[in-house]
Amino acid sequence: MASKRQIFVGNVPIGGGAPVAVQTMTKTETANLAATMEQIRKVADAGADLVRCAVPREQDAEALRTIVRESPIPVIADIHFNHTLALKAIDAGAHCIRLNPGNIGGREKVAEVAVKATAAGTPMRIGVNSGSLPKHLHALEREAPVEALVAAAVEFVEMMESLDFENFKVSIKSTNVPNTIAANRLLAEKIPYPLHLGITEAGTKWSGSLKSAVGLGTLLADGVGDTIRISLSTFHAEEEVKVAWEILKALQLRERGPVLIACPTCGRLQFDMDSVVAEIEQRLEAYTEPVEVAVLGCAVNGIGEASHADFGIAGAKNEGLIFAGGKPLRKVPQAKLVDTLFEEIDKSLDRGGQVEFDEAESREGAEWVANIERENAGDLTPEKLAQMEHEASQRQQEEEPERVLLDEEASPTAGRRFTRA
Ligand code: SF4
Repeated sequence: MASKRQIFVGNVPIGGGAPVAVQTMTKTETANLAATMEQIRKVADAGADLVRCAVPREQDAEALRTIVRESPIPVIADIHFNHTLALKAIDAGAHCIRLNPGNIGGREKVAEVAVKATAAGTPMRIGVNSGSLPKHLHALEREAPVEALVAAAVEFVEMMESLDFENFKVSIKSTNVPNTIAANRLLAEKIPYPLHLGITEAGTKWSGSLKSAVGLGTLLADGVGDTIRISLSTFHAEEEVKVAWEILKALQLRERGPVLIACPTCGRLQFDMDSVVAEIEQRLEAYTEPVEVAVLGCAVNGIGEASHADFGIAGAKNEGLIFAGGKPLRKVPQAKLVDTLFEEIDKSLDRGGQVEFDEAESREGAEWVANIERENAGDLTPEKLAQMEHEASQRQQEEEPERVLLDEEASPTAGRRFTRA
């Protein structure tokens, strides 16, 4: 359920069924033009659709003029407490103003910004953060934090509507993942405006990415959310963009660049897969094509579950196999596996996605895999166990379709929706 309304931040549509837009925030002092522009170019290269810059001082608002002119992507000015800076940011050509109507100094000042934004055609992002709800909602916040967040957001929406300003998106942010999920679900039912999703101060690259993937991923999978920002405790804003893209790609909401899949490894692994996967991941960053690459730690299961990948490797002690679209391409020495994989990817991209198979080499590769499969026929690999479970459940479903349905309905997790922490 995408938002009913759509707005445009620069040339980027937000909401109304538009692709979920990726945004991030520069970490530089905005007035430091060289550093800010360098970071903006980096995040744009990484796939940011929008970039936000903090505007806490006059010189930052002034710098926006140049930033807006030179930025390859639309620029959002992030304003707190000072409505004069919001007015100046609009004058500087910012493509959107982010402000929290609760901390800008009252309705009159919000109205002043709204009038100027309307004249300039500048949209706004209005939002509430769990740490800064209006005083009259503090008691409710202690008892029912989700309802308090939603009540604050709805009050701000009504304030903007009463000012005849409807060119906005809304955000509710919290450091608490379950509250963020519940609040945004509730808000999406109450208002037609696009929603900006984020987990405030999510944490380090590791923990913050996971929290964001769980929180934002859950909402996006439900169709809630029109633009996302991953907040990570790193100076490298492009890392936030990469995480955002991984979430969108995992949910198949957007496509960008390669997809890398890799087996989890197990005791059958016979080569240093950690470094091979890391090298492949790093080399794939240079590609913009949505090529899917699989890395298997062994060929005990043949090409198996990776057969749908565009390209892949199955490693072994001294040699490994390169395959494409489920068919062996050739067997190569272990040391050449990664280079040969990329040669094949490049050749195929040059040919518009066509892969050329040398039948003799392909046959030799197939025999090599078949030998390994035969030698290990009795092994219960993770893949074989998963396949056996799948087959067993299919058999059960065919034999007792009604019983399976009843079991699912009786399951404590069936149909469960998160409501409130
Ligand atoms: S058996 Fe499966 S998980 Fe184990 S190394 Fe081989 S492909 Fe990877």
